[in-house]
Amino acid sequence: LERLKSLHLRGSVDLQCGQKIDEITRSLVVCDETLRRMMASLEAAFNKGLATETASSASVRMLPSYVRSVPNGTEEGDFLALDLGGTNFRVLLIQIHNREAKMTSKIFRVPDHVMKGSGEALFDHIASCMAQFMEEHGLKNTKCLPLGFTFSFPCKQEGLTKARLINWTKGFNASGVENEDVVDLLRRACHRRGDIDIDVVAVLNDTTGTLMACAFKENSCQVGVIVGTGTNACYMEKLTRCGKLETELDPTDGLPDEMCINTEWGAFGDHGEMESLRTEFDVEVDQASINPGRQLFEKMISGMYLGEIVRVVLARLAREGLLFGGDTDAISKKGGFPTKYVSEIESELLEDEERTFSKTFQILEDLGIEGVSQLDCIHVATVCTLVSTRAAHLTAAGIAAILNRMQKPYVTVGVDGSVYRFHPTFPRLLDEKIDQLIDGNLEYQLMLSEDGSGRGAALVAAVATRMKNERSQ
Ligand code: BGC
Ligand code: MG
Repeated sequence: LERLKSLHLRGSVDLQCGQKIDEITRSLVVCDETLRRMMASLEAAFNKGLATETASSASVRMLPSYVRSVPNGTEEGDFLALDLGGTNFRVLLIQIHNREAKMTSKIFRVPDHVMKGSGEALFDHIASCMAQFMEEHGLKNTKCLPLGFTFSFPCKQEGLTKARLINWTKGFNASGVENEDVVDLLRRACHRRGDIDIDVVAVLNDTTGTLMACAFKENSCQVGVIVGTGTNACYMEKLTRCGKLETELDPTDGLPDEMCINTEWGAFGDHGEMESLRTEFDVEVDQASINPGRQLFEKMISGMYLGEIVRVVLARLAREGLLFGGDTDAISKKGGFPTKYVSEIESELLEDEERTFSKTFQILEDLGIEGVSQLDCIHVATVCTLVSTRAAHLTAAGIAAILNRMQKPYVTVGVDGSVYRFHPTFPRLLDEKIDQLIDGNLEYQLMLSEDGSGRGAALVAAVATRMKNERSQ
C-alpha cells in the first residue's frame, strides 16, 4: 500500500481526491487488535457449536465428519470421486499405489438453471455426468469401485455415508435438497437411470478432503482450509471437547480419540459477531445475494464475493465523482467484476515496473468504462489491494484461532481454493498475519494441498476401507 501511495501523481486535485478515497475506504482496514477480538469471539463460537446445550443455536456449526484418523500412507486401491461445490463439478478416477495418487478427471458444467432448479434435476445431471465418465473409462459394466463424494456444503452427518444438507451456500439453491441425505439422493438418481451402480463409502466436505490429501504427504497436517468460491476450515479435535458427540460414540471402539470437525466458519457473523467489522459495502453485497444475512464471514473473504465487494466500492467512488470521471453506468452492474480481475490487477501491480497498467486499462475498458485514466487504474488497484488484504487477514485470524485452540507444538495447515492459488499476494499476507497472531510457543506451516477435493475423497474412502478391514481382522 505504501508503494501504491507514493505512486499517486500528486497534483493538488489528485491529492484531494486521493484523500477522499482514503476516507471512504478506511473501514476496509482491520487492525491487529480488532483481529484479536474477532479471534476471541470465534473461539467462543467454536465452543458453542461443540457443546450439547448450545450446538443447535450456534452460528458456527462445528460439524462432525466421522473421519477419525488421517491417512498413514499405506492406503491403496482404485476409487471414484465426485467433487461438487467448488468452481467446477468433476468426476474422478483415482488410483493410489505406493504413496502416489494417479488421477484422471473430467470437468462438467453445472448450468445456472440446474444449480437453482429442482434437486431431482441436479442429481440427475450429476448421475448423467458420472455415467458418461464411467462409459469413457470402461468402468460401466465392471465391478463397481468405492466412491468418495466431496459435497462442499454444510451437512449434518450421521456416519461416514450419510449427510443431510443443512442449507445451500455459494450460488446453489436447488429445491427439495435441504434436510435430505445427499448420498441417498445420488443413489436414487443412479437407480432412475438404471445403467450405473455406485458404492458410496464416504461423503465429505472439501476441507476434510484438503486435510486428508495434505496429511497423506505430510503427517503433521491437522488443519484443512479452503479459500475458493467459498471459505471454510476443519481440524482434528479431541473428542473430550466435542460435548455433543458424547452420547453417540462408543469409547471402547478402539478408534483414535479425535475427529475431524468441519467448522463451517463461513457462517461466523450470522449471529451478529461481525457487525463491528462489516462495512456499508459488505452490507450491500450481502443484501443483493441469494442468501442475505447468511455466510457473512465467507462474504468478506471468498472468491464468490471479493470481486463484488471491489465493484461496490468502485461504484461508490464513481458516484462521488472520484473515479472514471463520474461515469457510474458500467461499474453499477451487479456481478460485473469477477474476483479473477482482482488477481489480475494486483498481479500487474507487482510485475509492471513501468506502470503502464495495460491489463488494468483493458479490464476497465472491457467493462465498458470510458475515458479511464492512469490515476483511475491506481485507485482501482488500491481498492483491490484493500479488499484482498482484509480477506487474507480475516482468514489468518480464523486459522490462528484454530492453532491457538489446538495448542499442538507443530501443525501443518493444508490450504486450497482458487483465491489461495491464484491471488498473487494472498498466501504471503495470510502467512505473515498468522505468524503475528498465534501464541509464541506454537509453530506451523502452510502447505498448498494439491486437489484435496478429488484426492482427499479417495483417501477418506481408502482410510474407511482400511479401518474396516483392520477391525474385522
Ligand atoms: C460451504 C463449506 C465449504 C466452503 C468451501 C462454503 O460455502 O458452506 O461447506 O467447505 O464453502 O468450499
Ligand atoms: Mg474444490
